[in-house]
Amino acid sequence: MVEVGVALSPAARFPDTPPMTDSALVLFSGGQDSTTCLAWALQRYPLVETIGFQYGQRHHVEMQCRGTIRAALAASHPNLGADHVIDIAGGIAALGATALTSEAEITAGADGLPTTFVPGRNLLFLTYAAALAWRRSLRRIIGGMCETDYSGYPDCRDDTVKAMQLALNLGMQRRFILETPLMWLDKAATWAMADSMGLTPLIIEETHTCYRGDRTHRHDWGYGCGVCPACELRAAGYKSWRAQMR
Ligand code: ZN
Repeated sequence: MVEVGVALSPAARFPDTPPMTDSALVLFSGGQDSTTCLAWALQRYPLVETIGFQYGQRHHVEMQCRGTIRAALAASHPNLGADHVIDIAGGIAALGATALTSEAEITAGADGLPTTFVPGRNLLFLTYAAALAWRRSLRRIIGGMCETDYSGYPDCRDDTVKAMQLALNLGMQRRFILETPLMWLDKAATWAMADSMGLTPLIIEETHTCYRGDRTHRHDWGYGCGVCPACELRAAGYKSWRAQMR
């Protein structure tokens, strides 16, 4: 006989099985923000794995920086686990060009967003990350999204990440926790946070932020063209942080 209207307990409706470990998967691009997030996670969780994406980014040099940064952090953090690189370049390219995935000019678009905006990029990243975390029984998914001092990308907003957490938990029947330690920090505060973990030399020398992939021009804040939106944010944040220290 089919019972009608019998409510299932929350645990029965939404089981967290198999139990997930309190370990983390960090979206790690090799940039300043994700490096700071990776170090932050390594201080907190027993096992931290990383995921990165080949999506046809013009600054693919960041993918080379990842290995150097991971090696540096691994020396003092035995809890740094496996790295996973997912190639979604074909899919992204099939959807159309952007200034981040071609040599098109980096400028402000008609909708106010920079032409570097890749629609859905962080939504895809989070979905891939959750699918991997599901398989590896990792509970926490950590990303460097920030809506305080950013380029206006709507998929970096706190509400977007919270909505993704809900959608991923429903769609994969898990209790993932999406963490964004930089969400409410401006760039100066992100520099200060990295410095509090002793990361400043690593951030300056080894992380890559510049959209143009420029690693020939060395500034006091690191390498980059100095004029693209990513360089501007990084440079302004550094200047503001140094000013606050005086
Ligand atoms: Zn640049």
